[in-house]
Amino acid sequence: IYGPERRNSRGVNLNVRSHYEPLMTQMAGFMDTTYRAKPLLAFEVADDAAQTKRVTSPFDRRQEVGSIQWTTKEQAGKALDAAWAAFPRWEATPVAERAAILRRLGDLMEEHMAELMTLCSREGGKLLTDGVDEIKEAVDFCRYYAMRAEQMFGEITELPGPTGESNRLMMGGKGVFAAISPWNFPVAIFCGQVVATAVAGNTVLAKPAEQTSIVAHRVIELLYEAGMPRDVVQLLPGDGPTVGSVLTSDTRITGVVFTGGTDTAQIINRALAARESAPLPTLVAETGGMNAMIVDSTALPEQVVVDVIQSAFQSAGQRCSALRVLYLQDDVADRVIEILKGAMAELHIGDPRDLGTDVGPVIDEDARQGLKAHIDKLKSENRLVAETSLSAEHTEHGTFIAPAAFVIDSIDALEREQFGPILHIVRYKSHELEKVINDINGRGYGLTFGVHSRNESFAAEIAQKMRAGNIYINRNIIGAVVGVQPFGGLGLSGTGPKAGGPNYLLRFATEKTITNNT
Ligand code: GLU
Repeated sequence: IYGPERRNSRGVNLNVRSHYEPLMTQMAGFMDTTYRAKPLLAFEVADDAAQTKRVTSPFDRRQEVGSIQWTTKEQAGKALDAAWAAFPRWEATPVAERAAILRRLGDLMEEHMAELMTLCSREGGKLLTDGVDEIKEAVDFCRYYAMRAEQMFGEITELPGPTGESNRLMMGGKGVFAAISPWNFPVAIFCGQVVATAVAGNTVLAKPAEQTSIVAHRVIELLYEAGMPRDVVQLLPGDGPTVGSVLTSDTRITGVVFTGGTDTAQIINRALAARESAPLPTLVAETGGMNAMIVDSTALPEQVVVDVIQSAFQSAGQRCSALRVLYLQDDVADRVIEILKGAMAELHIGDPRDLGTDVGPVIDEDARQGLKAHIDKLKSENRLVAETSLSAEHTEHGTFIAPAAFVIDSIDALEREQFGPILHIVRYKSHELEKVINDINGRGYGLTFGVHSRNESFAAEIAQKMRAGNIYINRNIIGAVVGVQPFGGLGLSGTGPKAGGPNYLLRFATEKTITNNT
């Protein structure tokens, strides 16, 4: 069902080996490269062995990717000085010039697709198929935000007024933004945050996730090659307590764009609010989810299983859009579970660089331990429905978690989001539907949601009642496409606006009205 064969809506197989072979040949050239990455700041950064961390691969910790030098507090402070000083000049740079840099970065990332994908795999444990999608999404962000910036910032809107008065509305940047990005989309989300904030006229201090700083470093090198001035976008690899605290405590930080856990977003929010006599901050946060899917008795079980497998286990479940709780109507539950067990038994766990692999590693040992504790608890309660087999070869040197499905009583049984390949199944009876909807909405998250039903009015009614940012009917619930399915949630899942949507740049912009009594 799932694997190298994947077709688009016109039936074209996107994942045939021949499609990837040219890329794989190029990728071979980057498999053994050892990277040495440092902060990329407006000024030169000296080598500092004490600050340098070794980076290895999640699928085999014996394999070295290279090293990353972390940013010190002093360097972060000086970077902020430079970003602050560069802001007026950058904001005054014509939007066409700013957009052109994004387009050049998009082209450069396409040219360097093989290298970036290899790094996504080696550093972040991503499958090659996920890697292609990831780089393409980053390119789409560049081109989409370049287009939107020209439309929004390029024109001055003349507004009506009394005779003798002209009223003009124009848009500019806000100031210095911190961009704090996650490891699960180390190129796409990282790049999307940086280019959106910069093209809107802001200067940017980008802190990539600790786990995936090397690939972020490569993207910023390409951004400089595309013409971005070094004081407009700077890269500050490091940990949250050191770099993050500078970025959220200084009063010159106008806003933060963040993707990651809800808890961290709340910490950032409190830190920004606690700054005395600071301008009121902008926080754009895209956080976690407790995403559900409701399957009614008219749904096609085979199609449900294809979509559930992708939604729950693609990227080893490490997407904030991933399916966590599957609600199956009683009449169809046994059939879906039977096919699901068969499909899970077919999944191949392994090296993410192998095209036959369906599920790669989770990001690190901390993640593995957390997921394992949850799995062990549910197993001890006899709730296991199915689990893909995992051999000793995987556990010895890498951080793998076998896809597993459990039956639970309701979404309320879950304390928090489990960010890995774990699916929870709840059986419900038709008369319980209202309760199911209230339970899901009642958790306070609202990122993705799915409904499978061949009864169109049922599907439409459920979609209307669910409080979620991205609702998918009769398909999987992951892989939102830039400009097509603007992505982002509400409540505990984020502030909006949606990434890859027409309004995203607005939160990074100021509007200025100039009234002239001529
Ligand atoms: N945009 C991604 C998707 O639709 C998820 C992003 C995330 O995990 O943060 O699958």
